[in-house]
Amino acid sequence: MKEAKKKNHLEKYPFRSFLPAAYCQDCRQVKVCKRLDSRKCCGCVIENKTEQWKDYQTYRQSLDFETQSKKEHEEELRELAKGETAEDWFRFGEWRKFYQQKGWGLNLGQWLRIDRVLPVDSQCAKLWHQDKEHLPENCGCLARKAKKNFLFFSQRWREIKKELKKCRCVRSEKFRVESDNWTWCEICEKEIEVASKKRVIKNRNDPRFWGLEIGEKVLCGDCLVRFRVKMPKSKKKEFNRYVKVGRFG
Ligand SMILES: [Zn+2]
Ligand SMILES: [Zn+2]
Ligand SMILES: [Zn+2]
Ligand SMILES: [Zn+2]
Repeated sequence: MKEAKKKNHLEKYPFRSFLPAAYCQDCRQVKVCKRLDSRKCCGCVIENKTEQWKDYQTYRQSLDFETQSKKEHEEELRELAKGETAEDWFRFGEWRKFYQQKGWGLNLGQWLRIDRVLPVDSQCAKLWHQDKEHLPENCGCLARKAKKNFLFFSQRWREIKKELKKCRCVRSEKFRVESDNWTWCEICEKEIEVASKKRVIKNRNDPRFWGLEIGEKVLCGDCLVRFRVKMPKSKKKEFNRYVKVGRFG
């Protein structure tokens, strides 16, 4: 970048780096605006978060999730306590240490033999130490925890949606690759030369260029041949010519 231009750019975007154009590490087809993540495009961030937070979309879901997680955790502890393998024995020991900590102050062996209801979290354990009646009847901690998680995630979700309005991610028509020189066929993993220094594949390796609507984004000539029957007539003709003159290398 020319010095004057660089200076101008710095004034405009003081926090932007001069790293080569950053393409999303997930989809590799979108130039990231870095609003939500420095290495992923906003679309992919949203997709990932939706998956990660799917258990907290409503208060009800959050409560179900906490209830289920607690149940599974207790079942696991009971299994581990049997100590059938050395690993089980070791892991139970680790949990025993965990629950002995100051915040919990719990004896896991005793919990299994006598108490049988594990506090929800350290706050619940504290209440139980103060009042043994807290568990199980008087404990509303699962609901408290579920509500807290639900509120936390819905708040984060709102913030993300707000940021998303300022999104400047740019979708590229071409599939971007990691290296200046090479990428790999998504079916046979053969090396494919990319368009020099631009980090885009050549049209000939792009299934879309041949009118193919398939999941793969980069294919070598040999693998493309298998899809020849699916190509539109006009494209098929050109494809045959490419093959004939050896343009796939
Ligand atoms: Zn992406
Ligand atoms: Zn409680
Ligand atoms: Zn964006
Ligand atoms: Zn191939």
